[in-house]
Amino acid sequence: MSKNEDEHFAREELHRKQKESIEKVKQALRERQKLHHMKCPKCGDDLETKIHEEVEIDVCKGCSGVWLDPGELETLAGKESTGLKNFFGLFKDE
Ligand SMILES: [Zn+2]
Repeated sequence: MSKNEDEHFAREELHRKQKESIEKVKQALRERQKLHHMKCPKCGDDLETKIHEEVEIDVCKGCSGVWLDPGELETLAGKESTGLKNFFGLFKDE
């Protein structure tokens, strides 16, 4: 085996090891995500996805806490205000 080939294989080996350690880190992150996924940050109980006003909300089975994804609060708030407008519109005599 020539020196060049030695270097080539050493580089390959190094590359393989780097890839392996990156995979290990990724795997650990996935594991951690799995542990916390759909768990209540407050009490640690399971979260249940429910549809409220066409918006998906995560409700805790333990403490009934409600968790929203980014933008969902705005969506709900927007729907809420039009809902109220429609409600008050009923009392307008036209
Ligand atoms: Zn909870």
